[in-house]
Amino acid sequence: MFNVLKTLFVNTCPRCNEKLQAHHDALCSVKTCTHCDYKEESYGSLGVRIVYDNTTNG
Ligand SMILES: [Zn+2]
Repeated sequence: MFNVLKTLFVNTCPRCNEKLQAHHDALCSVKTCTHCDYKEESYGSLGVRIVYDNTTNG
């Protein structure tokens, strides 16, 4: 059970597997990767998650 909880809070980048940096404000939480352009925004009150994954630039 504790392992399950841990995976909820430790977020890693799905692209390069590095740890994401999380920023929280009143509206949403933003997670960014320091190694690539991956970014995701979670709007908890709206139940919306937006993922910026610049795979089209390659
Ligand atoms: Zn990354």
